[in-house]
Amino acid sequence: MIRKVFVLFVVFVLAFAAMTAEASSIGDLQSELKNNENKIDSITDKLKEVKSEKYGVEKQIDELDNQIRSFVSEEDGLNDIVTEFENNISLKEAEIVQIKSDISSNTDLLEERLRAMYKNGAVGYIEVLFNANDVVDFLTRADMIQRVVNSDVEILEGLESQQTDLEIAQLALKSEQNNYYRAIEDVQSKRNDVEIASRAKETYMSSLEDNIDELKKEEQKLLDASNDIEKKIKQKQLEIQYAGGEMNWPAPGYYRITSPYGMRPHPLYGYWSMHTGVDVGVPMRSNIVAPNSGVVTYAGWYGAYGNIVLIDHGGGISTLAAHNTSVLVSEGQSVTKGQVVSYSGTTGMSTGPHLHFEVRINGKHTNPMAYFE
Ligand SMILES: [Zn+2]
Repeated sequence: MIRKVFVLFVVFVLAFAAMTAEASSIGDLQSELKNNENKIDSITDKLKEVKSEKYGVEKQIDELDNQIRSFVSEEDGLNDIVTEFENNISLKEAEIVQIKSDISSNTDLLEERLRAMYKNGAVGYIEVLFNANDVVDFLTRADMIQRVVNSDVEILEGLESQQTDLEIAQLALKSEQNNYYRAIEDVQSKRNDVEIASRAKETYMSSLEDNIDELKKEEQKLLDASNDIEKKIKQKQLEIQYAGGEMNWPAPGYYRITSPYGMRPHPLYGYWSMHTGVDVGVPMRSNIVAPNSGVVTYAGWYGAYGNIVLIDHGGGISTLAAHNTSVLVSEGQSVTKGQVVSYSGTTGMSTGPHLHFEVRINGKHTNPMAYFE
C-alpha cells in the first residue's frame, strides 16, 4: 500500500515536472527575449552617445582644418613677399656686377695711363715737363697730367662708393627678407602644431568609428538572437499539444449564461452584432480559473474588454476571460488547469459585473459551449 502511494507520488512529480519544463521553456524564452531587448536598448543608447561624440570631434577637426587653411594662405602671402625680395636682391646684384665691371675697366684704363707714363720712366715724365716753353706752360702741363690722373681716381672712387651703397642696400634687403623667413618658420611651426592636434583628433575619431562598428555588430548579433528566440517561441507554441480533455468551467459556482455566443443586439448600443463569447453572471471579485493548462500570452488592460487573461492551451486553442477587476498572472507565465487567474468585475465596455468568456481556434472565435459538457 505504502509502495503504491509512493509510485503514484513519483508519477505525479514526474508528470508535473515534465509539464512545467515544457511550459516554462516558453516563459524562459520570453524572459530571454526581454533581456535581449533590454541589452539592445542599452546598446542603442550607447550608439547614440558615441555618434554624438563623433559628431563633436568632426566639428573640432573641421575647425582645425580651417586654421590649417588660414596658416597655408598666410604662408603663401609671406612666400610671395620673399619672392619679391629675392627679385629686388637679384636686381641689386646685377647693378653691383655692372659697377664691378665698370670699376675693373676704369682701373685698367688708369693702370694703362700710369704704365704709359712710367714706360718712359721718370725722365720721360720730367722731359715732358721740361720741354715746356715757360713756367706757365710747365705748370699747365703738370696740372693737366695731375688732372687726368685725379679725374680717373675720382671716377674710380665714385664707382667704389656706388658699389658700397649698393652692397649696403642689398644687405638691408637680405636682412628684411630674413625677417619674413622667420615669420614663415613661425607660421609653419604653428601649422605643424595644429596638424599634430588634427591628426590626434582623427585617430580618436577612427577609434570612435571602430567603436560604432563594434556596437553595430553587437546590436546585429542581439537582433539576430531576438529573431531566433521569437522563432523558437513560435515553434514551441505550435509544438504545444492541446492539453486535451474537457475544459474546466472558468467561473466555478456560477453557471447562468446571461448572453449566449452568436448574433445579438449590442447590449450598449442596440445594433445587431456578433457576440464572440458567452457572458456568465458572476458577482464582483469571484474567482476566474484557467479552463485548462497553458501559457498566459496576454494579461492586462485590453480596451473594451477591460482587464483580460488570454491563455494559450496549445494546438492553436486559446481562451480569453474579460471584464476582470484584477488579474493575478502575467505574460509568459504557465498556468495549470483550475488555477485562479483573475477576479471578475465590470471593467471595459460592460453594463455590470459578469464574465465574458471566449474560446479561439488559431485566433478565430468559436462557440465556447462546445468545450463543456
Ligand atoms: Zn460578452
